[in-house]
Amino acid sequence: MKFLGEVAKLVYEQNPEGLEKVAVVFPSIRAGLFFKQELSKLSDKAFFSPEVFSIEEFASKIANIVPADRLRLIFELFKVYKNFFGNETFDNFYNWGAVILKDFDDIDKNLVNAKELFRIIKAYKEIDEEFKTNLDDYESYQAFWETFSKQKKTNHKTSFIELWKKLYGIYTEFTKVLREKKTAYQGLIFREASSIVLKDKFSIGHDKIYFAGFNYITKSEKLIMQTLKDRNDAQILWNADQYYINDIPDHEAGSHLRKNFKTFGDKDLKWISNNFSNTKKISIYSTGLKIAQTKVITNILNSIENPGVNTAIVLPTDSMLSPILNSIPEDVKSVNVSMGYPLRYNSFHSLIKAYIKLHSDKRTDSSGDSFYFKDVFRVLFSNIIFPLYRDENESFKILFDFKSNITKQRITYINKDLIPASVKVNNIVKDIFKPVESVSDIFNNIESIILGILDASYSTFYKFETEFINTYLQFLRNLKGILTEYETELDLETFWKLYMDVIREYRLPLKGEPLEGLQILGLLETRNLSFENVLVLSFNEKILPGGKFIESFIPFNLKKSFGINTFEDLHNSSANYFYNLIKDAKNIHLIYLADTTNEGDGEVSRYMTQLKIELPKLNNQIELEYFTIDSPEGESGETVIEVKKYPEMFKKYYSGEKLLSPSAINNFVNCSLKFYLSNILELFELEKFNEEIDAKTIGNILHEVMNQLYSDYINADVDCEIINKLRAESNSMTEAVMSNEPFYIKDSDTGYSLITKKIIQGLVNRLLEADKKYAPFKILQLENSKEVYKTPVKVDNGEIFIGGKIDRIDLKDGITRIVDYKTGKVDFSESGDKEISLEKISTYFSDPKYKEILQTYIYSYIYRKSTGTEKFKVTLLSLKSKKEITLDVISENLEEDKLRKFEDNLINLISEIFNLKNSFKQTDDVKRCNYCPYKSICGR
Ligand code: SF4
Repeated sequence: MKFLGEVAKLVYEQNPEGLEKVAVVFPSIRAGLFFKQELSKLSDKAFFSPEVFSIEEFASKIANIVPADRLRLIFELFKVYKNFFGNETFDNFYNWGAVILKDFDDIDKNLVNAKELFRIIKAYKEIDEEFKTNLDDYESYQAFWETFSKQKKTNHKTSFIELWKKLYGIYTEFTKVLREKKTAYQGLIFREASSIVLKDKFSIGHDKIYFAGFNYITKSEKLIMQTLKDRNDAQILWNADQYYINDIPDHEAGSHLRKNFKTFGDKDLKWISNNFSNTKKISIYSTGLKIAQTKVITNILNSIENPGVNTAIVLPTDSMLSPILNSIPEDVKSVNVSMGYPLRYNSFHSLIKAYIKLHSDKRTDSSGDSFYFKDVFRVLFSNIIFPLYRDENESFKILFDFKSNITKQRITYINKDLIPASVKVNNIVKDIFKPVESVSDIFNNIESIILGILDASYSTFYKFETEFINTYLQFLRNLKGILTEYETELDLETFWKLYMDVIREYRLPLKGEPLEGLQILGLLETRNLSFENVLVLSFNEKILPGGKFIESFIPFNLKKSFGINTFEDLHNSSANYFYNLIKDAKNIHLIYLADTTNEGDGEVSRYMTQLKIELPKLNNQIELEYFTIDSPEGESGETVIEVKKYPEMFKKYYSGEKLLSPSAINNFVNCSLKFYLSNILELFELEKFNEEIDAKTIGNILHEVMNQLYSDYINADVDCEIINKLRAESNSMTEAVMSNEPFYIKDSDTGYSLITKKIIQGLVNRLLEADKKYAPFKILQLENSKEVYKTPVKVDNGEIFIGGKIDRIDLKDGITRIVDYKTGKVDFSESGDKEISLEKISTYFSDPKYKEILQTYIYSYIYRKSTGTEKFKVTLLSLKSKKEITLDVISENLEEDKLRKFEDNLINLISEIFNLKNSFKQTDDVKRCNYCPYKSICGR
């Protein structure tokens, strides 16, 4: 029988007269819920349930103290701290305060003599030199210093030593204040509770108390449990297994339990399971990239029949919660998430982050506030604000025109008066760009922005989004309430820091029926629960178990001598939770990240090596299998960006105002989100649009220079002599074209202007050299001609045109040639294909490696369809390629069977682009993001 079942049976059988005077205490409240369920199975008749507590609730009840939230405690501590350090600012205090609070918590939980400890810490500091000779300590000490600003190190160091001297005084005053207010941090509650339990007349009002399923116990917990046990008021029930207690006598998973058995004696040892002797199938998956884990999870869940309450997905870190929720197969009817949805992993929070950045980067002068263009675009084109423009036909256009003007004029700081609004977003936009002078302005503005969005989008929001916004507002109001209550003056920078730090702790509770459905939970919440199927993600070293570094003012050796928990205790606890989690399971799936760029450094958890080496020696029914998931799935970062399609997005395409160009098609093949950002939003390439000249501008200037150079030679025969003449003119022509650019500084012999000029002149000369080799030829048409080549394609909601302008058309030996200048990076050798291959045609439409050949053939297809010409050639001229700069495609090579297959694939791809049923999504292949200009939007 599983542990909670055993506990329920024992409690039931030992108390035949009734359970109303019985209390059962677990390390977590979650185990209590499942315990009650086990208890209910024991009788058909109704009976009173015992009172069930988590150990924190139990201590709180004994001490009659309500725990305070961490932020309130930090402000309370700051008040005391100021009594010792005069006019210290909250900014200087904040980082230290969080560390001090954690240390006080550990000190009290372990009933440490604080006076003695702080005296020794002070002395320890005074023998600093000796301290430095201890390598372990010195490393933690150095790591601790790294948390502070390097520039301020010297000042901080001085204050740090001062702080050490005064820590005991701060501790005494702080705990006194909290006691008076009848509130406390957990450690202080446990210290109070343990001293109350020691009093002779103590009574909690229960005849019998069971402490069940504990592993690591602090000194205060130990004292409470031991005192009640010695008075015959309590019984302690351990959750242990032979495997890590006796079979491997020094196994870390059993380390705390073995100590506990010694402390409490083994009289209470009712049972030790032997579940590692059962059949188990352990599958270990190595994935290169974080998001690939979700695909593995989907496949495993699909292979499990009815993955309900018998199945647990364990997330050691919460960053994967959102992608995992999105990857649960549809036929899994019910899911219970016990860990809460972190507020910081949502588009709303991304918008607020963008808002914070907007105001942090802004400039103010006599004309008012101006905002950095990237920040402005990030806010206006965010997933939340951008769709609000869509209901009004004109608004979209106004927004796009605004963007296009800013990019054309290369405005880096945008005055707020230029920001376009529309009826629906008017107030929201006003709030976003409203001046921020104080912290209270921030609260008011953010609250108005959120309420405005809620109001404008209410009808389209799902329940989850509405609840999320309400929780976000709650967080804001709580933070505002605490700041007002403590009358703390914060500068804006400190406030932003605090805001981002505090939000890490806020979660939207995901309501569900905890005893039903597939369980998604953190490792701590699995304590004492049993599952048949266990799926563990991020099964990496430094995650399971966690790292070694714990921020603290108390050196490692002192922690050990005073019995304060260290990272070793945490590691032993993690091992116990993990082995207990898998001891009852039959199917265990452990997924780790082999990529060194991910959290966990690409190293699999030490538990895998232990399982591999130790377990099969004791049990030959253990089946271990290994999988390498080498699909090119990408790293999603914190959220997977997905944009729903709607007809207005494609309006310009349906009306024929815009053509779907070959390079847009290539964008879609590369990443559908990139297509959305570049070809629907027409978002200027953020990464490249710096104050400096960018590749796109270089391309535009080069095209214009070539147009102007050849403009007098339309329909003329161009030979080497003419090209030599053009070469002589090319430098001054480049200068003339550049002079129209806003960045251009006439006669400049330094800076970007000069560098750009030299680059473009070099490229133009390279093109003319290539032309010289090809000469003689006749120019038929240049890019600035009015002629546009296009051909219609039917899609779901109408008809669109693929096509575009052609850089140049020339004629040589009776063959028409379509020329496309490529100023970006082109590598013809990458695909190895210069000729279209029938077998590979579908691959061209899915693998961006073939982008050159795909683009060239799409040009060829458009030209053929729109002119009826069958014999011509398409040439890509790549100006960045080191050796060969041309890729020629001869139209005759596109035979009937190839043409048909090519056309089918092209039409399928275009239909997919315009299909409203699917969304624009980030590519799964993170390598495609390496050179993407939208990396900063995607967080990749
Ligand atoms: S960064 Fe990656 S996911 Fe984002 S648009 Fe670019 S290619 Fe797509």
